[in-house]
Amino acid sequence: MTKHIPKAELHAHLEGTLSPEMLKKLAMRNDMPIPGGLLDDDGYYKWDDDGDAGARLISFVNAYDVATSVIKTPQDYFDITYDYLQRCADEGSIYEELTTYANPEPTVGISYRAMIDAMTDAIDRARNDLNIECRILPAFVRHYGVERAIEDAKTVIAYPHKYVTGITMAGAETMHSVADFVPAYNLVTENLGLKKTAHAGEATGPETIRECYELLGITRFGHMVRVVEDTDLMAEMADIGAVAEVCPSSNISLQVYPDLNHHPLRQMFDAGITITLNSDDPPFFKTSLGREYELGQDHFGFSDDQLIGFTRNAIKAAFIDEETREKLLKKLD
Ligand SMILES: [Zn+2]
Repeated sequence: MTKHIPKAELHAHLEGTLSPEMLKKLAMRNDMPIPGGLLDDDGYYKWDDDGDAGARLISFVNAYDVATSVIKTPQDYFDITYDYLQRCADEGSIYEELTTYANPEPTVGISYRAMIDAMTDAIDRARNDLNIECRILPAFVRHYGVERAIEDAKTVIAYPHKYVTGITMAGAETMHSVADFVPAYNLVTENLGLKKTAHAGEATGPETIRECYELLGITRFGHMVRVVEDTDLMAEMADIGAVAEVCPSSNISLQVYPDLNHHPLRQMFDAGITITLNSDDPPFFKTSLGREYELGQDHFGFSDDQLIGFTRNAIKAAFIDEETREKLLKKLD
């Protein structure tokens, strides 16, 4: 059991936290049918999680897009944000960093500003009701292309916000090069001073981690698991204190590794990489932040102190002001 262990999460995609229950609620409220074939008889998301890695990824991305299509209004964003923070607080989380669209307009049909304002209301209410803190990371999406990333950066810059504290890059790691996104990253860091992370070393190998480090100056990485394929890089990353947002269940569901026995979490930890545990898109991978900590304990054999250490790592690497960081760190003592 890990319920008593305080937790923190740096890597969860807000739209990917949408529970099947919330999906049904939003579909009904927005007068839409529940998208056909999306849920199985037990009420879980149905996607092809038996095929090879390529087939699984396509099937997962399709299911994700179809599920997201029920989100239509600012009230929906309030509800999904509050709902996820509540589920996390119930499992002992004290801090969440939520990745979301840098521009929801083309997909959801509401403006970035309306989305951020709705999320802000949910974050403020959750702080009061549930004693959990939260910040927002808009994402560049690699397969949307470079021009869209520049447009997204401008959208983010046009509405500076105290809870938008970092920027990330998600989507198909195999598309475009990291170098292509340097101008988009520069726009938001130079204009707003946002902190940086990016998915790297998940679908592609250690070279993407090196590119993000050398071209973008990134030292906190989404997944980063494939760093183990380059022992020199792994030593270098340990040396500079690089932080890994590790999402074990996601990696198995998407077949980055065949099963947990082959997952390199322990190897990364032993090499001195700074570890955090995360759920990525929890209902799609039949997991939760609490479950990832459970796996850390039951499968990887980490002690309570080590698991609290992962939470401490997350708070230290969180994209928050120092005063909030100190407050959160105190909760771990
Ligand atoms: Zn992710």
